[in-house]
Order: sequence, then C-alpha cells, then structure tokens
Amino acid sequence: MNGGLLWLKAAVVGVLATAVPLLIFGCGKKPEDAKDSTWPDQPGPKVVVSFAPLYCFAANVAGDDAVVKNVMTSKGPHDFDPTEADVKLVTKADIFFVIGLGLDETKAVKMKNGSGNKNLKIVELAEMLDKKHLCEGKCNHAEKGADHKHDKDPHMWLSPDHAVMLVNFIRDELKAADPAHAEGYEKRAAAYVVKLKALKTYGMEKIKDKKDRRLVSFHDSLAYFEQAFELDVRGVLTKHPGQEPDAKEMAELIRLCTKKNAETRVIATEPQYSTSGSGDALRKELIAKGVADPVLLEFDPLETVKPEDLTLDWYEKKMRENLDALAKAMK
Ligand SMILES: [Zn+2]
Repeated sequence: MNGGLLWLKAAVVGVLATAVPLLIFGCGKKPEDAKDSTWPDQPGPKVVVSFAPLYCFAANVAGDDAVVKNVMTSKGPHDFDPTEADVKLVTKADIFFVIGLGLDETKAVKMKNGSGNKNLKIVELAEMLDKKHLCEGKCNHAEKGADHKHDKDPHMWLSPDHAVMLVNFIRDELKAADPAHAEGYEKRAAAYVVKLKALKTYGMEKIKDKKDRRLVSFHDSLAYFEQAFELDVRGVLTKHPGQEPDAKEMAELIRLCTKKNAETRVIATEPQYSTSGSGDALRKELIAKGVADPVLLEFDPLETVKPEDLTLDWYEKKMRENLDALAKAMK
C-alpha cells in the first residue's frame, strides 16, 4: 500500500472511530469502557483490574455478564498513582483483580480504603498459584513499603502457561460472584484458554530452529517468558525500569555477554523506556569485544497501554509481536 492510501485509510479509521465507536467494537466493549470512571447501568459483577493483560484475561471471561474496567492503563503498575476518578470507579466495584507479589496490591488496598467500599474483594491472583509455579525474582520495581514477598517475580502474564492459570482463577471468582451465569463464564474461559494455548504453540513454532537462545533482558521481567519459551536470560540491563546501569553493572554485563561459549548477542529494550541508550551502548561494547552480530530486540512487557488500544485481543496481539521480534533477532 502506498503512502497516500495509508494516509487515507488512517483518516477514514479516525473518522469512524470518533463518530461511531459502538459500531466498531460492539457489545459495549469499546475501549474507553476500560478507563471510563462510570459504570454502565447493567446487572452483573463490576470488576476492576490493575493493568492491561489482566483486563484482557478478565474481559474475555466476563463477556456481557460482567463489566471490567482497567485502572493502571497508561501508567502501568510501576508508576501508577490513583486519581479521584479511579477511586470513584472502585467505590462501586465488587472485585479487584491484581497480580500481587509486591507489584500492585498495595495500590489496590489504598484505593479500596480511599473509596470506603468495604465490600470490595481484592483478589491477588499470584497468591492462588501453587508455589511451584512461581519464579524467583530480583524485581526491583516492587512498591516501596510493600516489604514482603519480594523474592518472587510477579511478571507471570508474559507466559501463556501462566496466563491460562490466571484466567481459570478469574473464571472461578466470577462464577462464585455470579452463579446464575456460571455456564457462560465457563464457556468463555474455555474458549479463551484455547486462544492462549494457540499463542504458546505459535511462539514455540516461531523459534523452534533457534540454536542460540541467550539474551539480556531490559528490566527483570522475563523469567516466566524464558521458562515458557525455553530461552536463556543471561542478565538484566536495568535494575529499576528507566534507570541506567552504572559502570560496574555495565562491566558485569559485558563480562557475562562475552563469556566463552556463552556469548550473548540479543539485547532486549522496551518501548516504554525510550531505550535510553544503555542497550545500544552494550551492543557497541559487544561489537568492540568481537561478539558476532549483537542486536537490539524491542520487547514490550505489556505493563502499559494506550486506552484506545486496549481491546479484547490486545494481549495476544502484543505477545505475537514480541514473539515475532524475538524470532527475528535470534539465530
Ligand atoms: Zn515490570
């Protein structure tokens, strides 16, 4: 498609999106619902989730039997600070799904307290997982003051296997909250699990011929992804998302990546943190040290989303983009 046509298409989509959002998204699932701080006049559980992947998991199970709203949409769990509108949303909610493990639950509790909604049930999904499914983490973006549970990594949504488990927990919570529609939750959860399993197969297929599966992660978010897709994450570029590695950390990374017979050439960056140069600095160092063909891989940890992009299939779409980028970068 040429540039003129592309422009025309963008303009038409733009006009349609402003004029008739309902026609495009249907069923009241237009993306602004995810963030709009009012609840529709509709029976069924009112559900809030902390951030984007959980929105997709919960909304796919909810169908039209429950309403799901996402609160940490564009800020993500690291940088989120509740606004008055967020607290207002929570005032009338029945369930608040979070991951837990120090990532987002303290913020949910604060919002609950601020809203005065004593009936709100905060569900920490990670707490429901069998401990054997939890990865160790050195995750440093956990909330300050949430001083427990930090040794476990919260980034489980990046594994489709874990996504399946989370979806099933969400299904059980919704069934318990709304038994009259149990069958609907069952059916939709089962259909979504089929899609998540297809996502895993897609990824495995994409990288099945890759012999060198080593990479450096941007922030320490890839333990579950590494496990699901049989990768080898050798190091982490930034200890705190958005903060540059210091000279000592950089030297250690260079040492790790130039290790004999374990040279690492794939360096992940994140679209949310404008790469800040450290990934590219490492890449240049590796070139200078004779590592063959070091590359940057843009990997989205799915912690933030523009409200208008958050659709029911957003999680699958973004994961496929990550897997495509990975397949392209790896050899
Ligand atoms: Zn993270």
